[in-house]
Amino acid sequence: ATADLRYKRILLKVSGEVLMGEQGFGIDMNTVKAVAEEIAEVAQMGVELCLVIGGGNIFRGLSKAAVGMERSSADYMGMLATVMNALAMQNALEQLGVDTRVQSAIQMDSVCEPFIRRRAERHLEKGRVVIFAAGTGAPYFTTDTAAALRAAEMNCDALFKGTSVDGVYTADPKKDPAARRYDTLSYHEVLAKDLKVMDASAVSMMRDNSIPIVVFSIRSDGALRDVVHGRGTYTVIS
Ligand code: UDP
Repeated sequence: ATADLRYKRILLKVSGEVLMGEQGFGIDMNTVKAVAEEIAEVAQMGVELCLVIGGGNIFRGLSKAAVGMERSSADYMGMLATVMNALAMQNALEQLGVDTRVQSAIQMDSVCEPFIRRRAERHLEKGRVVIFAAGTGAPYFTTDTAAALRAAEMNCDALFKGTSVDGVYTADPKKDPAARRYDTLSYHEVLAKDLKVMDASAVSMMRDNSIPIVVFSIRSDGALRDVVHGRGTYTVIS
């Protein structure tokens, strides 16, 4: 039942790195499928879901591949990479029976819809998952900022950041066994301590719009379902 949902409409940001699985690069379709299963479960529970997927698994502006390239061109390549990831995720979701629309911030009519806020709203009302591709459509931004922007535009109850660990820690839990997870953090603490959760611009946009950021693991079975009910382990930044 939707009555016991803590969050009814969310924007889920998944980094491109999450989709490459154990590979060092590209899209691992088994991993995409596993993430799609997590998403399908909550979509089928009636949560209205927007997705923003990064592109870092394929191309990142200012990375080694982009050395010597003009920043804007490299960033446009990064945005195009997010479209590939979006199509892979759309495919995986539709194979699970979840209607999905991709809306791109850069128009490419034969591939997907353009971003039109009111149309996206309509898709959500009809129970479709909407994937926002091509970031903000502008260079010098990241998909974190795109996620924050769309979360605000679509009036989401929260911005969910799906990572490979179940929240924000005092240190990297994969390297430091003494690292502790924060249950809650303020936007200010994240910015002041320079905790690497999301870009500072994304965090400050969420602060200005009073939208909580929920950091959780997208790689553990059922975690997304638990978190939308307010159960399990995660960190809330508010
Ligand atoms: N990018 C951009 N504007 C945007 C979103 C993304 O220029 O609004 C470019 C930027 O070069 C970035 C790349 O696309 O490095 C991939 O996005 P990001 O690094 O955010 O992906 P993630 O780390 O989440 O996989």
